[in-house]
Amino acid sequence: MTNTTNPTDQTPINNSTLTSFDHIIINANLATFSALYGFDIYSANQSSDQNNNQNESTPYGQLGNAAIGIKDGKIAWVGTHEQIKPHLTHYKSDQIKDVDGNWVMPGLIDCHTHIVYGGNRSNEFEARLQGASYQDIAAQGGGIVSTVSATRASNEEELFAQSEKRLLALIKEGVTSVEIKSGYGLDLETERKMLKVARALGDKHNIHVSTTYLAAHALPPEYKDRADDYIEQVCQWLPILHSEGLVDAVDGFCENIAFTAEQIKRVFEVARSLDLPVKLHSEQLSNIGASALVAAYQGLSSDHLEHLVENDIKKMAASNTVAVLLPGAFYTLRDIKLPPIEELRKHQVPIAVSTDCNPGTSPLTSLLLAMNMGCTLFYLTPEEVLAGATVHAAQALGLAKKGKIEVGYDADLVLWDIARPADLAYQMGLNPIAGVMVQGQWHT
Ligand SMILES: [Zn+2]
Repeated sequence: MTNTTNPTDQTPINNSTLTSFDHIIINANLATFSALYGFDIYSANQSSDQNNNQNESTPYGQLGNAAIGIKDGKIAWVGTHEQIKPHLTHYKSDQIKDVDGNWVMPGLIDCHTHIVYGGNRSNEFEARLQGASYQDIAAQGGGIVSTVSATRASNEEELFAQSEKRLLALIKEGVTSVEIKSGYGLDLETERKMLKVARALGDKHNIHVSTTYLAAHALPPEYKDRADDYIEQVCQWLPILHSEGLVDAVDGFCENIAFTAEQIKRVFEVARSLDLPVKLHSEQLSNIGASALVAAYQGLSSDHLEHLVENDIKKMAASNTVAVLLPGAFYTLRDIKLPPIEELRKHQVPIAVSTDCNPGTSPLTSLLLAMNMGCTLFYLTPEEVLAGATVHAAQALGLAKKGKIEVGYDADLVLWDIARPADLAYQMGLNPIAGVMVQGQWHT
């Protein structure tokens, strides 16, 4: 057979390329989420009076009857089954995965979690449903303070063991990258412990972990009425933990029950001096200028956003800041104020969806269920929530080579036994996973 060409960019592919992969996946339906294959979520959301270019967009960047070649942990080639078929004799049977028409997608990315914490708050959940108020529970040492106490009291091994269960639940559903925040230590030693546990979890389970420093999460009891003094400490701890290789990004809780935009700005200034990207818990309960602040720092993401206004959406669009929506917290809090989805679409702000797994407001360890909630509660489309757990979640973490099926990207792939991509957002409680590859290795 003569040389073939790549179906998208027409670059010649010689036969030696097609015979030298470490692994190949054949007979696949791909949801690539790549513009090279027609993925264009913005045009899909535009009304029919737009120009005809939108006709070229392909939902999910879908490719049928496709094959993928993987080499050195990367996606090395994407093409058709017919192109690779004459070369299959060069491969051993254990290098070939015939997926028989099933769907292959990028590994899922959970871009906003607090899975590392000590203790358990189901007692508070039960007490509230028996009639106790939030104030009653707080007066008994409950709420975030109880998680801070339990996290401080746990040693590294205990914290690892408790958090690992939550990570395994995410992995079981195809999550290959996860962001993990600190923020239940609120002192240097415990913030360090949380971040070390987050790194160790990724190492043990061979998945990518992005760590986020969130000491500006809540005011610890020992700093009562001294928020500015606490922020000063937060600013001093950051360079220390960064120098220990524990921090990939910096976050805060900018809210009238937490920290002001001015206080968060002080932390962001330190982040900027260290060249660390920022993100922010924004507009969950009110609007005190959080998204405008994170956009001013070209932040990776602004998260929650129920009270976001259009003027700030324009700023997010200009700074290419991802809107991370967290339907698990909306559900748990029985919120009724929806994030401004139509305005986010109008200004073409990339939307991600995440579990926000945390013991207080979102005890959720299913990204698939978060996607379903994104559709049912927020009226997102299945394509939007899937993009929100792949390509846009990667952007929210600054991961330039994850979240798409495209040559040169990391070979983090999930094989799904489904009829169409929407199944993943539609079904609740069924896990149709049929295989996971991380950095070019099949997980067993
Ligand atoms: Zn959060």
